[in-house]
Amino acid sequence: MECALVGNLSNTCFLNSISRRVVRQRKTRMLYSSANFNAPPLFAHSNPPKEAIFDRSFSMFCGSATKQRTLAVFGSEEFVWPSPADEIPFWKNTFPSRDASIQVPTDIEKDSNPIHIIHVTAEMAPIAKVGGLGDVVTGLARACLSHGHAVDVMLPFYECIEKQQINDLALITEYNTFYDGNWVPTNAYRGVVSGIPVIFIEPSNEFFKGQNVYGGSYNELEAYLFLSRACLEWMQVAGVQPDIIHVHEWQTGALPLLYWDMYQNLSLKKPRVVLTIHNMEHYGECGKDQLSKCGLDGSIYASVDKAMDDRTIGHNPERLSLLKGGIVYSNAVVTVSPTYLKETLCSGWLASTLLSNRDKYFGILNGIDTVIWDPATDVFLPANFHAQKPEGKKICKYYVQRGLGLVSEGTLAGDPVPHITDNVPLIVCITRLVAQKGLHLITQAIKRTEELGGQMIVLGKAPDARVQGEFEDLANSHNQGSSIRILLMYSEELSHMLYAAADMVLVPSIYEPCGLAQMIGMRYGAVPVVRKTGGLADTVFDMDDSSNREMANGFVFEGIDEGSLNCALDRAFRHYREKTDEWNSIVQKVMEIDNSWNNTAGKYIETYNSIRVRW
Ligand code: ADP
Repeated sequence: MECALVGNLSNTCFLNSISRRVVRQRKTRMLYSSANFNAPPLFAHSNPPKEAIFDRSFSMFCGSATKQRTLAVFGSEEFVWPSPADEIPFWKNTFPSRDASIQVPTDIEKDSNPIHIIHVTAEMAPIAKVGGLGDVVTGLARACLSHGHAVDVMLPFYECIEKQQINDLALITEYNTFYDGNWVPTNAYRGVVSGIPVIFIEPSNEFFKGQNVYGGSYNELEAYLFLSRACLEWMQVAGVQPDIIHVHEWQTGALPLLYWDMYQNLSLKKPRVVLTIHNMEHYGECGKDQLSKCGLDGSIYASVDKAMDDRTIGHNPERLSLLKGGIVYSNAVVTVSPTYLKETLCSGWLASTLLSNRDKYFGILNGIDTVIWDPATDVFLPANFHAQKPEGKKICKYYVQRGLGLVSEGTLAGDPVPHITDNVPLIVCITRLVAQKGLHLITQAIKRTEELGGQMIVLGKAPDARVQGEFEDLANSHNQGSSIRILLMYSEELSHMLYAAADMVLVPSIYEPCGLAQMIGMRYGAVPVVRKTGGLADTVFDMDDSSNREMANGFVFEGIDEGSLNCALDRAFRHYREKTDEWNSIVQKVMEIDNSWNNTAGKYIETYNSIRVRW
């Protein structure tokens, strides 16, 4: 896998095997080519995807780019840099499929008391991922599998799921689920995703249709009420009784109510229920009549000690909160970091409910799946690297800079990865563009990075049209220059490449229950610049805090004002430029930090064990 690298990189790197293979296939053609030519992209396209049209924000800076391509030589390998003029953007190339299933670690000691856990969730990475919820379900499930437990995930069969990402897909049960006075024909499919058995629930009505996980033209609240009942109904029909049903967020908050007040009186007796709250921003506001549609009597839950949304008391009509109902009716409630746990006990209208359920409320820090997020093997990267062999990271940075037109192509003949990029820190921000993420601070970071002579790439998608419009305007005014790229889309592939390319990762959230971006960024050698809140406060410690040198791994600010952000960015850029050796050791240090599920999955397993009943 390794190759000697000539030019400015004196050590060795791994060129991604697919890029080498493709380049090798093209060598004959290259013999007839000059150094600058209209070469095909780095990765092969057997069938150019239909969606290979440029995203709007990307095309904004492609217009004037030349179509010239430059080859670099690493050892005996030729390497084609991407260009903004490529017909197909580099992140939309065809990549080798990642079969993470074979990489579920097998060397982990198996627990002597296996538990059967079924997750019921609205998201699962990579097939139905919008944010961290999807990553967490997949990562935690794989971690528990590797400890010898039995794990299934139950997920809506969203129309947008790409079926080729599912192994061994088969219809296993045709059954009916009660909804709104009718029994709705429903299919359950079984398949395997990243090594995890998944049961897909497909109703015959309009629920879960559309091009995205969320935001289809059906009533979302009612669709998830349907899902909660459909999953329990399937367990009953199929005779499956797990030890633990693990529900997530408001979407599945009605399941504990349905379980204890309906299915326990039918045939399901064994399961106990865990709820994980990933973000307390959404409460699952629900009318009593809506809850009644899944077969419960909604009015029974309209009291302060059950599911009443306290904020609506005295309103007409009063409302329920599925999240609150889930807290009250679950056997254990987990949130995703110790600091967020403290924050939620002190503020917000759910604090009193959480306080009265304090004895079953735990803060367990999320982990990242270090097989899926591994720069040493990541198939999306042009070159692989790790803490002991970091050189490939420079190739990733230059690859992204070239592909997005952040370095001019003309000046680089014969210089594979020029030193000029070394002095230009590249900071990335990969996020849902919502208020929680500190939109004004992201905007300020763009301005400050430009002033400081650095480069910044924002990869984000805004569910709100007004926010999307504002960022489109920003993209229009910045994407033509040579320092800022604002890419308004969702791309898993590009996110991997950006983490690998980045010198720093910015997470300026107003609040952040856990945050995965800072952990993934660190694993890929990007030093975090974060606001001190929630899980960011549990995972990033300031470089200039002399009282905590041992933990120091990034740059932290506390205020939500622009000055506080500027101060952290200024310090990070100064460190990068003026203390190169120290910087290189921080990069190595952050790559070696273990933020994997190995550290925290055990706490979930302890929680499962503490509530399960033994039959
Ligand atoms: P949240 O769950 O609030 O969205 P997290 O930091 O916990 O935030 O997790 C976000 C996850 O979603 C990370 O894996 C991040 O890389 C990914 N992500 C966010 N926005 C995008 C995007 N536009 N394209 C690709 N991945 C994204």
